[in-house]
Amino acid sequence: MNIVVPQGYVFAKKGEISAFEENGILKLYARYSRFEDIMYDLTYTTKGRDRCYYCRRKLTEKNMTLDHIYPRSLGGPTIPQNLVPTCRNCNGEKENMTPKQYTIFRKLPNKESKAEFKRNFAEIRSFQEKWLHVIPDEWISKVLTTSLILLINLEDTQTQKYKSISAYYVRCGQFPKPIVIDCHGFVLDGFTTVLNAKNNGIKEIPTIVLDNVEVIFSENKER
Ligand SMILES: [Zn+2]
Repeated sequence: MNIVVPQGYVFAKKGEISAFEENGILKLYARYSRFEDIMYDLTYTTKGRDRCYYCRRKLTEKNMTLDHIYPRSLGGPTIPQNLVPTCRNCNGEKENMTPKQYTIFRKLPNKESKAEFKRNFAEIRSFQEKWLHVIPDEWISKVLTTSLILLINLEDTQTQKYKSISAYYVRCGQFPKPIVIDCHGFVLDGFTTVLNAKNNGIKEIPTIVLDNVEVIFSENKER
C-alpha cells in the first residue's frame, strides 16, 4: 500500500533530516530508527491538528492525541491509514475497541448502557485476539521471512517482548501483529517478530508493505 506523502515533506529533528519526500516516495535514512515518530508527524501533517476525528471538538495542545483506529493491542499498525487526531476523552473512552464497536458505543443513549457495553468487553476481547479478522485484509501481504532485512541486530531472545511474542504464537498460531516493511523488504516495525520467525523457521509473516517508502543509506541530503 501507499501512504500519503505531501510534496516537499521533510522530517527533521534538531536540524537533522531523517526523512524526506522525493517523487512521491518517502525516503528514510537507515540510521534513523524512530519510524513511529515520522508516521505520527505525517499523520498530523496530512490530517491536521484542528478537530477530534470522533467528537469534532476543537483540539488544543493539551488534549491532542493520536488514536490507532484499529487498536495497537489488536495488531493495529502505526501508519497514517490507521491513525487519526483525537481528543484525550475520545481516545481514552475508545480503549481497545475496534472502529465498529466504538461506533456502536458512541450511539448508546446513556452512561448505564455504556457501562454495560464495557462490562461485556471481556467476551468481545477474546474474539479480538484473532486480529487477522479485525485489520482490513487488503492491508496485509504474506512475505517470506528469508526476504526480510533487519536494520538492527537483535540477538537477544531473553527479552520479555521476545518471550511474549513466542507465547502468543504458540497460543494463537499467529504473530500478535503484522510487521511493516519498505519497498525493498527493510523491516520498519516488528524487529522482534522477524527475529522470532527466523529463529523458529516460520516461513511467512503477515506484513504491511509500504510501497512508496524506501530506506536509503546515503549521507545527509543537501537541501
Ligand atoms: Zn473527541
